[in-house]
Amino acid sequence: MKDLTELLEKNKAWAKSIKAQDPGFFQAIARQQTPHYLWIGCSDSRVPATQLVGLLPGELFVHRNVANVVVHTDFNCLSVLQFAVDILKVSHIIVCGHYDCGGVQAAMQNLQLGLIDNWLRHVQDVIVGHEAQLSQLSDEGQRLNRLCELNVIEQVLNVGRTTIVQNAWARDQELAVHGWIYSISDGLLRDLDMSITNTKELSAAYEDAIGPSD
Ligand code: ZN
Repeated sequence: MKDLTELLEKNKAWAKSIKAQDPGFFQAIARQQTPHYLWIGCSDSRVPATQLVGLLPGELFVHRNVANVVVHTDFNCLSVLQFAVDILKVSHIIVCGHYDCGGVQAAMQNLQLGLIDNWLRHVQDVIVGHEAQLSQLSDEGQRLNRLCELNVIEQVLNVGRTTIVQNAWARDQELAVHGWIYSISDGLLRDLDMSITNTKELSAAYEDAIGPSD
C-alpha cells in the first residue's frame, strides 16, 4: 500500500510557504477563529470550498456532504449551523452546489449505490417537487444542471426555515443566506439570485429563483 509520506511532505511545504508570507499567521489563528461565512457545499473533491473563494484558514466555516443537502433532522448539519450562527455569529451562509454533481446525477438516474441512496432520496424529493419544470428540458445534461440549481434553491429554503436562522432573524441578527452554484469546467461561481436576509423575503425569493414554469 502506498504510504502517505507525500501528503505529509506537501503539508510541510504548505505551512512553510504560509509562514514565509506571514510569520505570525498560525499563532494568530490558533487563539480563535472569527470566520464571517458558513459554507454548506458538496463533498466532491473538485469543489474545495476555502480554496475556490480565495480565503485563508480561519476565514470560512465549512460543512460539506454529498449533494449539499440540508435536512431538518440532520444533527450534524444543524450543529454546524447553530454553532456558526449563535456562537461564531457569521454574517453570511452560502449554500453552494455544483454542476455535474455525481450525487444529484445518481438521484436523477435512480441509481442504487448503497446506503447513500437513502441520503439522495432528499434530492429525489426535489425532482418530484419540480417535475413539470424538469420535464420541459429534453437534454439530459441540461436537466441535470437545472436539478443541481433547484437542489441549491431548495436547500437555501431549508436553511431559512430552520429555527436557528428564524430565531437569529427574529432577534435582528445580521444574517444573509445565499444560493450559489459552481462550475467545475471553468472554476467559476454563479449567484442563483436567492439571497435572503429576513423571514419575510423567504417565500418571494424562493418563487423568483424557481421561475415561472413550476
Ligand atoms: Zn456534488
